[in-house]
Parts: sequence; C-alpha cells; structure tokens
Amino acid sequence: MSKILIIEDEKNLARFVELELQHESYETVVEHNGRRGLEIALDQKFDAILLDLMLPELNGLEIARRVRAVKTTPIIMMTARDSVIDRVSGLDHGADDYIVKPFAIEELLARLRAVLRRVEIEEAQSSAKVTQQKVLKFKDLTIETSNRMVRRGDKTVDLTKREYNLLMTLIENENNVVSREQLLNKIWGPESKIETNVVEVYVRYLRNKIDVPGKASYIKTIRGTGYVMRTDDNGEENK
Ligand code: CA
Repeated sequence: MSKILIIEDEKNLARFVELELQHESYETVVEHNGRRGLEIALDQKFDAILLDLMLPELNGLEIARRVRAVKTTPIIMMTARDSVIDRVSGLDHGADDYIVKPFAIEELLARLRAVLRRVEIEEAQSSAKVTQQKVLKFKDLTIETSNRMVRRGDKTVDLTKREYNLLMTLIENENNVVSREQLLNKIWGPESKIETNVVEVYVRYLRNKIDVPGKASYIKTIRGTGYVMRTDDNGEENK
C-alpha cells in the first residue's frame, strides 16, 4: 500500500483529498502547516507527497527544495497559480509534476498513479543498470551510466536527474533530431501536462552546464522541430 503525505492548509480540501485517497486504498498523512509538513516529509518514508504552494510558515517551493536535497520522493505541487514561471520554479525546486487548483480528483489520482509508476520503472531500470556498467561518449563528454557521472574533458559536470535524463536521451539518439514532445514524453512521462517551453528551459540549464563558453553548443536547436547532438559538427554552426 502506497503511503502519501498531503501538505495542504485548506482543511476542507485536505480532508477531501485524504478521503478520496483512502477510498483508493492509499495510506495518508495530512499536515496543514508548512514547517511541520517538512519535518514529517523528512522524518518518515512516503511514496509520494502532495504539496500545496502557499502554506503557513514555510512555502511549498522551499519544502520541495529541502526534501529534494535529501530524498527522491515524488512531489506533486498543488497550486492555485497558473503562470509558466511558477510551474518552472516548482519543477526546478524538485517537484515532479503539478496540478492547478481547482482540479478534478480523477486528474489528481491519475497524476499520482503516473508518478508512482514512474518510480517503479526507474527503480527497475536502475537495478538492471548496476549489472551492466556502461560508459557513453560524445566527443569529450563521458557518461558513466552506473553512477550517472558526467564529465566534459576532465571536468566533472554536476547534473540534476532531469538534466541527466535529457542529456542521455539526446545522446542515445545521437545524430537524430529529437522533438520537444519526445523529450517531454521521455522525461516527464506521457501523462504529464507540462508545456514544451519547459523543455527549452531545461535545455538551457543543460547547455549552461555542459558547454564551454565561447564554443558552439553541443546541443543544436533545429528550429520548429527540436534538438540534436551531432557527432560530425565541426563547432562552426551557431546554437
Ligand atoms: Ca494554501
């Protein structure tokens, strides 16, 4: 049985979500205060966290950031705000998905099932990967898949999980253009409603980390289509 932490200060909404989750056979813990929510999130083991954005004492972004610093528990942000910047900052702080209030409970349940399934798949994949250590190369980039270690030349590059997955997807499709939709599907999952401009934001983060200032980016933008990492680029093209 999956155990879900609900951090939400609107008591009626928290209670409603709790009852619906219990009806679906989830175990639930509810907390209405941000600071206490963070304490419980760090203290106990949960399969997922439903996290409100605006909370007393400590906001959802800060909670997501602090949980993500030490745990991989999937986080779904529940936000009344609906601007791209809020979504991006929620995702950037470590949330895995978000849902905009007011939402249909079926949608929340679907998102929850999706993140739980993703974790299951990732766990299965990472245990399979331990047995097959693999080193991928792209020009002077080296990726050790067993420990997710990325280097450019002899310099280690510190990537978040999403940036790493983005890089891996592009390298696995080396010399082929990968569309924003494909990246979205692969990295955020087919059920995610995240918009493709979030992909652009993450490509920018990744470029900032793997590229060398003054040299052409390893990731080429194919206007209106997507991105490609080409082995035969001579570095003369623009981004
Ligand atoms: Ca709130």
